[in-house]
Amino acid sequence: MDLVTSELAQIHQGAAQIRDGEVSTYLPQLAAADPELFGLAVVSMAGNVYRAGDAAAPFTIQSVSKPFVFALTLAELGLDTVLRNVGAEPSGEAFNAISLEVGTGRPDNPMVNAGAIVTSSLVPGDREEKWGRIRHTLSAFAGRTLEMDEDVCATERAGGDRNRALAYLMRSAGSLVSDADDAVEVYFRQCSLVVDCVDLAVMAATLGNGGVNPCTGVQVVPGLVAEHVLTVMATCGMYDYAGEWMLRVGFPAKSGISGCLTASSPAQLGLGAYSPRLDHRGNAVRPVAAARELSQRFDLHLMHDL
Ligand code: GLN
Repeated sequence: MDLVTSELAQIHQGAAQIRDGEVSTYLPQLAAADPELFGLAVVSMAGNVYRAGDAAAPFTIQSVSKPFVFALTLAELGLDTVLRNVGAEPSGEAFNAISLEVGTGRPDNPMVNAGAIVTSSLVPGDREEKWGRIRHTLSAFAGRTLEMDEDVCATERAGGDRNRALAYLMRSAGSLVSDADDAVEVYFRQCSLVVDCVDLAVMAATLGNGGVNPCTGVQVVPGLVAEHVLTVMATCGMYDYAGEWMLRVGFPAKSGISGCLTASSPAQLGLGAYSPRLDHRGNAVRPVAAARELSQRFDLHLMHDL
């Protein structure tokens, strides 16, 4: 067994002991997930893939879609245009908070729901064109064609009043400039894309590799876009745990309510992790613990040894 695989197996074994947290009840499909599932995957800049545990278990990507759709809008429109409609400040609030910047009406950042709905709305085209571009881009990040879970999307839609309310609020505040229903529909679909840990590791590695997918060699977004996305992930990706996350782990990440996590150590590796139990902030407990251990074992903290 190679060094990375054996380290990853030890990290997995350690974090698997943790049984804290609760499986999300946000959707019935998430509530039904086996709480013991636990997968880890690491992808190097050379495109080597390392796995531990349930790395092939499928789950919906949920909020981990947000940085990659942000990347798409940055690539299409440029930073200045995107920042007119969505901010880049950590919110210090829950992911679905109803709070907009005084004066501009902008949501705090693209990693919370309100900001992600704006980012999705900024993707050029009508509803189906937006969706096509989003699915194509996230698939290019993952290096394979991603499929949507229709049942999850239907329940997102049926129970999506809070996200719809956010969209309408932002339309009245002027930060959402497209049709509100189109924006949330596209957002529900992107949250319902099915991935596994390897996909999330490849996606993170692509960001950390200057926008070039290390497995396919495809330049998915320009290097500057990857740099901008990683920066916003570093400050805002873990919701109101973003500060302590940077302190303890020290590289950009994004969590999702299904229990998934993607984390990118620039020029080093991408991490994908999944285990359904969440802490009170909505971050998956075992994946956070595993990322912390990985960072320590491989000295990945960005401020290490300066
Ligand atoms: N689909 C979820 C929502 O809109 C995503 C939230 C999350 O993953 N934190 O609320």
